[in-house]
Amino acid sequence: MNILVINCGSSSLKYQLINMENETVLAKGLAERIGLEGSVLGHRPEGKDKVVIEHPMPDHKTAIKLVLEALTHPEYGVIKDMNEISAVGHRVVHGGEKYASSVLIDEEVLKTLEEVSHLAPLHNPPNLTGIYACKELMPHTPMVAVFDTAFHQTMPKHAYMYALPYELYEKHGIRRYGFHGTSHRYVSKIAADLLGKDIKDCKIITCHLGNGASVAAINGGKSVDTSMGFTPLEGLIMGTRCGDIDPAIVTFLEETENMTSKDVNNLMNKRSGVLGVSGVSSDFRDIEDAAAKGNERAQLALDMFYYRVKKYIGAYAAAMGGVDAIVFTAGLGENSPECRYFVCQGLEFLGVKIDEEKNKVRGKLTEVSTPDSKVKVFLIPTNEELMIARDTKEIVVKLK
Ligand code: ADP
Repeated sequence: MNILVINCGSSSLKYQLINMENETVLAKGLAERIGLEGSVLGHRPEGKDKVVIEHPMPDHKTAIKLVLEALTHPEYGVIKDMNEISAVGHRVVHGGEKYASSVLIDEEVLKTLEEVSHLAPLHNPPNLTGIYACKELMPHTPMVAVFDTAFHQTMPKHAYMYALPYELYEKHGIRRYGFHGTSHRYVSKIAADLLGKDIKDCKIITCHLGNGASVAAINGGKSVDTSMGFTPLEGLIMGTRCGDIDPAIVTFLEETENMTSKDVNNLMNKRSGVLGVSGVSSDFRDIEDAAAKGNERAQLALDMFYYRVKKYIGAYAAAMGGVDAIVFTAGLGENSPECRYFVCQGLEFLGVKIDEEKNKVRGKLTEVSTPDSKVKVFLIPTNEELMIARDTKEIVVKLK
């Protein structure tokens, strides 16, 4: 069974075709600049050279058509025809309160997704566009939606409510939803295996540290709290997002800097985070380089970032009444020994001891704590596409 995993952004489309017999990737790629000048598809068939296809892509439907052509191409394709795609798994950012797990896409689901689109105005509409395009091009292939928010639907009410007038929750659904759920779920399962315990008996803190970053508290396999909130802006300091700030700063900026709410939103999402503090870049590699050369603001950005992650780890250990393992994943969590080291510095009181030698590793599943560390620390590469494909398979095999 081959499953096509699709992740549609506003002007991009990432895909992977996964053979589920052995969970290997047959091909993957990225269509960029959809709807813009100079659109291009980078297609990587397994075991063959990357192909770059420059072709106008005015919309996502054209992009998906090109992807299907690439997958079935006589030279650089990996399957003979579209019938070899058993199902499509779509990453959908927001499932609202309705979806606590992945679902088979039907008219009812599409209707609900349209209804919750306002909760993720930047993400859900392109996700939906991808679903509609696939529906047109492969009308008989079952499709599954896998939500970033679903895993966090197990949070208790006292963790997901904001202390705003209760009616706002009822009227607009203003509450914490949390994101990166597919990644937190994937790495927490592996962490439980590495601990050699049933996940029901584990307290795990997962740190997904990429361009977007979030921490989750996972007790007994269920997300009980997470740092992102109503939107992905809350919580950790990120590449360009500010994370937690005093909400009064918003109105202060509107009044004193004469900014509109749109301006402030843009500032908090695009011009803040480690980019805003360092003035160097949103990419941690550039910031680490600049800090190593003595750039004080770059160092400050890193110190602030590490400190915020550490605070969340402390908070979540308290929320769960302990912690068995801390997991680092995503671009920075997997690739930066400095990040893992400095986040864990000072957590010895919790029973966390990093092994500095073992920690000098990038992108490889590794236990980076010492053998006597009471709390295990793991580097676990995330694989959201595989998780989406697994969910899709689980749902579609039941259809037969
Ligand atoms: P996203 O999927 O949210 O775009 P990723 O998980 O791909 O993000 O992470 C991207 C981030 O990972 C980049 O901002 C980069 O700073 C960081 N990163 C990647 N490789 C390294 C590295 N070798 N050292 C430090 N940071 C890295």
